[in-house]
Amino acid sequence: MFEANYDVIVIGAGPAGLASAVEAKKSGAQNVLLVERDNALGGILQQCIHPGFGLHIFDEELTGPEYAYRFVEEVKKSGIDVLLDTMVLEIDKDDNRIYAVNGEKGVCNVGYKSLILAMGCRERTRGSIAIPGTRPAGIFTAGTAQRYINMQGYMVGKEVVILGSGDIGMIMARRLTLEGAKVKAVIEIMPYLAGLTRNKVQCLDDFEIPLYLKHTITDIKGRKRVEKVTVSQVDSYLQPIKGSEWEVSCDTVLLSVGLIPENELSKKCQIKLSPITAGPIVNQKMETSIKNIFACGNVVHVNDLVDNVTIESRIAGRFAGLNSIDRNYRIKKIVKCTPGQGIRYIMPQEIEVTDESGDIDLYFRVKEPARGVTIELSSNGETISHIKKQKINPGEMEKMKLKAEMLEKLGEEIKISITEVKG
Ligand SMILES: Cc1cc2nc3c(=O)[nH]c(=O)nc-3n(C[C@H](O)[C@H](O)[C@H](O)COP(=O)(O)OP(=O)(O)OC[C@H]3O[C@@H](n4cnc5c(N)ncnc54)[C@H](O)[C@@H]3O)c2cc1C
Repeated sequence: MFEANYDVIVIGAGPAGLASAVEAKKSGAQNVLLVERDNALGGILQQCIHPGFGLHIFDEELTGPEYAYRFVEEVKKSGIDVLLDTMVLEIDKDDNRIYAVNGEKGVCNVGYKSLILAMGCRERTRGSIAIPGTRPAGIFTAGTAQRYINMQGYMVGKEVVILGSGDIGMIMARRLTLEGAKVKAVIEIMPYLAGLTRNKVQCLDDFEIPLYLKHTITDIKGRKRVEKVTVSQVDSYLQPIKGSEWEVSCDTVLLSVGLIPENELSKKCQIKLSPITAGPIVNQKMETSIKNIFACGNVVHVNDLVDNVTIESRIAGRFAGLNSIDRNYRIKKIVKCTPGQGIRYIMPQEIEVTDESGDIDLYFRVKEPARGVTIELSSNGETISHIKKQKINPGEMEKMKLKAEMLEKLGEEIKISITEVKG
């Protein structure tokens, strides 16, 4: 049995956990513990050996492991304690303790003043989307295939069809092609791309991999191993159109059909979750509905760019650190952030106005792609600010700034809405 007490405990050592732990230490926490179930630090970045990380934070194009390494070095220098191979099983929010298991230490019972949830997310599987057909070998989630190829040195197949145009699927289309496989098609049910445009250009277009929008896989055939899939066009209700189907022979199907924030621990300790993001509802300090518990990264909402994860995780770390040394400020009012016309969600969902509140970045995702749009930030029906965008896409996070001097004037709610669409 391992027993200890820390000012701040961070669950998960991906980019969110690493950045928040470092920041918690900088903001005054005396001792910080980082708990990770894997055998190394870095989270999902360990298997992302492609470049494209850190363009905003470091103004450089790094691979995932290179990006993670910069934070791992900071963790080491800051004297943060690390428990690897340790799975957190439960949070006791009343006693401010976590319970975890570790192969050598056994049960770990550790107290905290502030806790940061940074557990990332997991991939949706075939079960979540219910594709009919047989159950042969050769069906992988894109992230699992990435781990096999990039970390364990196993090639997953030779002729591949990818379902879903998420970033992991597109990145894997390129990776498999570079490893000698033939990627025959990327199939997307929606009329638009799920991931970043830059990934379509660099991973599909550059390798002449065809993308079929408004299509889905309606059958998987094969006895021991996948032999072929049936692809059908879908109508505007996303239902397969009879007579539109065709078959593609392949030995492998990769699924890139979305990520689900990893919130089993959060649910068990009754943290309020958003039905839209499936992550904890947080305020601008990245504090959840439960006192002393903060959250950041993909456990809160699925991020396409690691730079945004680092920014919000530094915020979570800073406030978790201040909370642990009782540096909290009197709350003057709470303002709700409500998505208006054309907006799927806003992060954070609430703002606590205090004397110390500074400018706040509001991150949001739109519901549908559009061109020539005006996006407005308003409160009590009055426009606070607006931005114009040539192009918006649900796969890309947008941002608006709420200036500190505006906070006092806000009503109970602020809204972000699309007010004009030209094309
Ligand atoms: C395949 C892929 C490609 C990407 N490509 C890019 C790119 O090119 N550029 C870019 O900017 N971004 C990219 N991203 C996005 C970016 O990498 C992620 O948004 C970011 O890594 C999320 O960080 P995180 O710390 O929230 O989650 P993760 O990295 O998933 O870390 C979560 C950690 O928590 C641990 N954990 C979970 N539960 C527990 C528990 N109960 N106990 C202990 N530990 C636990 C997990 O083991 C994991 O290590 C990509 C993401 C993926 C998946």
